[in-house]
Amino acid sequence: MESEYKKCPFCAEEIKADAKICRYCHKEQVEKDSIIDFKDVIIMSIIVLVAFIGYKYITAYHPTAEDQRRELYIPVAEDYIEQYNMAVRQGDKTQIVVQAGIVAAAFLQAHDEVNYQKWKEIQNQAQKAAEKSISDYYK
Ligand SMILES: [Zn+2]
Repeated sequence: MESEYKKCPFCAEEIKADAKICRYCHKEQVEKDSIIDFKDVIIMSIIVLVAFIGYKYITAYHPTAEDQRRELYIPVAEDYIEQYNMAVRQGDKTQIVVQAGIVAAAFLQAHDEVNYQKWKEIQNQAQKAAEKSISDYYK
């Protein structure tokens, strides 16, 4: 709330808040609207900060469908990577192709485009290696 009186910024005498000219020193009073009120700036900053924190809170604790999808499928993909690694250790080339394909499919489900492309490529390479070993066998 505005007080009825204010201090003249020039002579420091109490004058009416609405006064255009100080009755003591006759200096023209600056319109309140034209000066940046520091208090208003602080209040605006707090509002912006609260809105920002609120937004962060909402996005952190209310995951989108896309986030939930990732949470659900990424651990599945990681399990499949473990199985892929096992196939690599065992050296079964057909099984390596199959497992790489399953990992790629899991990342596709997770909508993880980068990892999907990566595993698709791993699968392609494994496929080529498997085909080569078969043709070598029949040579
Ligand atoms: Zn004055």
